[in-house]
Amino acid sequence: MEQRMLRCTVFVLLLLLAAATTACAEDPLVYITETGEKYHREGCRYLERSRIPIPLSTAVSMGYDPCGHCNPPPPSSALGGPAESRELYRLNVAGVEQPGEADLARMTRAVVVRHVDGDTVYVSIPRPPKGLKRYESLRFIGVDTPETVHPQKTVERFGKEASEFTRGQLLNRPVYLAFDWQLRDRYDRLLAYIYLPDGICFNAVLVREGYAHAYTRFPFQFLEQFRALERSAREQGRGLWGSEE
Ligand SMILES: [Zn+2]
Repeated sequence: MEQRMLRCTVFVLLLLLAAATTACAEDPLVYITETGEKYHREGCRYLERSRIPIPLSTAVSMGYDPCGHCNPPPPSSALGGPAESRELYRLNVAGVEQPGEADLARMTRAVVVRHVDGDTVYVSIPRPPKGLKRYESLRFIGVDTPETVHPQKTVERFGKEASEFTRGQLLNRPVYLAFDWQLRDRYDRLLAYIYLPDGICFNAVLVREGYAHAYTRFPFQFLEQFRALERSAREQGRGLWGSEE
């Protein structure tokens, strides 16, 4: 009896190993560049200095074009996914009540290709809708993380932690973008809600976990919700609301 169980376990493990090996072979990592025009295979002579690794299936489903030189054939599983919206998805117009109710299928797909600080990144947008560029500096709507890179200010308490959190969660990851009343700030940065593939609004996470203040100087769709998240973070002493040692 025991021996049969053991044999069964070994068989299942072998099956899993085979599945994992197949997945890797069919969906290798490819590299997109900061300009977000194309993707290359490992070893392509046109690979540039800045290489952002993502699975081939993700690159294809997001609409990146293959490099004409290394021209990796797309995996069949990546074709025929749902068509993404070519309109900007504005949450104020859509009247979404809570950040978590927003519809990923209507958002603009992007990859975070460069990290600046807790509330600012650069994204590559493979199929930019009208009004957006392929490469954008992006400021998160409704949040303000403590300053880490401002030349005229000293580094604020908890700024480094917030910055590292954003880097760890977002850099080189595919994300979804939604917008509000105002598309850009006075520095021409894109103002967006940034969503993770599991439907979580990262802006809200920053406030909820105490990595950011709710930034309420300008009106936005979730102003009251973000205020409430900040209140509970403060009450529970999370992140920047924690006691100083
Ligand atoms: Zn190439």
